[in-house]
Amino acid sequence: MLRTHTCGELRIEDVNKEVKLSGWVQRIRDKGGLIWIDLRDRYGITQLLLEEGRSADELVKTARTLGREFVLQATGKVIERVSKNPKMPTGDIEIDLTELNILNASQTPPFTIEDNTDGGEELRMKYRYLDLRRNPLRKNMELRHQVSLETRKYLDSQGFIDIETPYLIKSTPEGARDFVVPSRMHQGEFYALPQSPQTFKQLLMVAGYDRYFQLVKCFRDEDLRADRQPEFTQIDCEMAFVEQQDILNTFEGLVRYLFKEIKGVNIEKLPHITYAEAMQKYGSDKPDMRFGMEFVELNDVTQGKGFKVFDDAQLVVGIKAEGCANYSRKQLDKLTDFVRRPQVGANGLIYVKYNEDGTFKSSVDKFFSQEDLKVWANKFDARAGDLILVMAGETDKTRKQLSELRLEMGEQLNLRNPNVFVPLWVVDFPLLEWNEETNRYHAMHHPFTSPKPEHEHLLDTDPGKVNANAYDLVINGVEIGGGSIRIHNRELQKKMFQVLGFTDEEAQEQFGFLMNAFEYGAPPHGGIALGFDRLVALFAGQDSIRDFIAFPKNNAGRDVMIDSPSVIADEQLKELGLKVDIKNPS
Ligand code: ASP
Repeated sequence: MLRTHTCGELRIEDVNKEVKLSGWVQRIRDKGGLIWIDLRDRYGITQLLLEEGRSADELVKTARTLGREFVLQATGKVIERVSKNPKMPTGDIEIDLTELNILNASQTPPFTIEDNTDGGEELRMKYRYLDLRRNPLRKNMELRHQVSLETRKYLDSQGFIDIETPYLIKSTPEGARDFVVPSRMHQGEFYALPQSPQTFKQLLMVAGYDRYFQLVKCFRDEDLRADRQPEFTQIDCEMAFVEQQDILNTFEGLVRYLFKEIKGVNIEKLPHITYAEAMQKYGSDKPDMRFGMEFVELNDVTQGKGFKVFDDAQLVVGIKAEGCANYSRKQLDKLTDFVRRPQVGANGLIYVKYNEDGTFKSSVDKFFSQEDLKVWANKFDARAGDLILVMAGETDKTRKQLSELRLEMGEQLNLRNPNVFVPLWVVDFPLLEWNEETNRYHAMHHPFTSPKPEHEHLLDTDPGKVNANAYDLVINGVEIGGGSIRIHNRELQKKMFQVLGFTDEEAQEQFGFLMNAFEYGAPPHGGIALGFDRLVALFAGQDSIRDFIAFPKNNAGRDVMIDSPSVIADEQLKELGLKVDIKNPS
């Protein structure tokens, strides 16, 4: 072995031991006759000491040729430090060097390998292996490992088994585009990379493996939104002989277990909220419930008073920001600007200040009397000192816009503490959603999700009204996972594809294998998948998943380190049948 100890290991008890350490040079200080080298590895930093005159001349000479990130093997004796560093676990000791072996030299790194580095995002991506040497990223990788390990432990304890499913498959729709891989042996034909192992896990249920899980890579070719990765990892699970509540219980168990093991946090029973209620109260199917600020609908008390914006609106709805009646003109203008940003897209914002003296001041005083405003305030259970913010317009749009404002107010009022965790289940999602562009229904979850049995009859007459046995796990306003009870009956699956606009031939061609399997004793089943990268980021109290993936892609979907995607050789294209050889067309 090139070392007897790691760089994070030695303590005062080890004084006088002869040790060998290996690692990277963090920094060197050369002060007169004394040279200190900080040697770093994954486990920590240990200080090495050399002294001109006392240490061998050769050694001092070698030390003076070192630069940052050189890889060293250092041999010496553990001694007590004269000036100790209580901030470092190894801060009581240093190594009096007797031998120094340069295992490899290093160029000066393009950015500093420190907790707070001077490197920009792109540069750090390009030299990801250097960025990964930094503590914050190392901690992220360790956390990821720990969450993975604990997840496996829990699922194993519940009887789940880990089964791998293939990556070279045929399309599994999850609402994104497929990444495809051309086949050399079958020219003109393509594999698709899985958007999820959905159909395979269902086939495993048919095969009798009634509790399956996998920490699995999924691939989705989407227009990249901030913080989406074209490949990401899911905790993918499926269970047979269960109803929705069984799945919710099992995965609520996982959530609790992980919070306890990873964060030392006890999570109460998860509340359930229906999709309809979530949209009505929070304007979002992933409400951040670390704070209240529920929507209050005001149509009945605002319409018919001559204010056109309200009179023409499908929905008039507002929130109450407690204690914000003292917001200045400037602050209110800022909020109006916020909702007018194209990302939010509202026309404007109406405010009512419930002043400390009991009077009201609003932006619609021309249309509404003090008594009118008092009625509004009562609807909100508002008290003197509160601020009411109201929006109006088409129902769905207005809810979404007000949801943005609610989150913004939550932010401004410090109600979104990253160390507080409020998980919940959103249930009873609609089965379908109408797509204006394609002029047809799309599956809200995916086409394998079963309608609520009591709604099945509506599939022919009013498909938009059908609810599904589908559920999402939401934590702090982030969708962490989703799943559903599946269809396990050929006829119903066929019907579902019809509703989604597939011809019977198309459905048979793409999903015949699954529908056929349903004819060989498919048990009732359902499952869920949790976004693993996002879950880990959440445990670390961070929004972005990128630094929880060892080798992520940038915002444009590129790996700038290996430079991918990239063009491939003509030879390769020809071999794949993607380029015709003009001289020898086959
Ligand atoms: N396959 C689904 C997804 O990837 C999850 C599930 O329904 O289990 O979102």
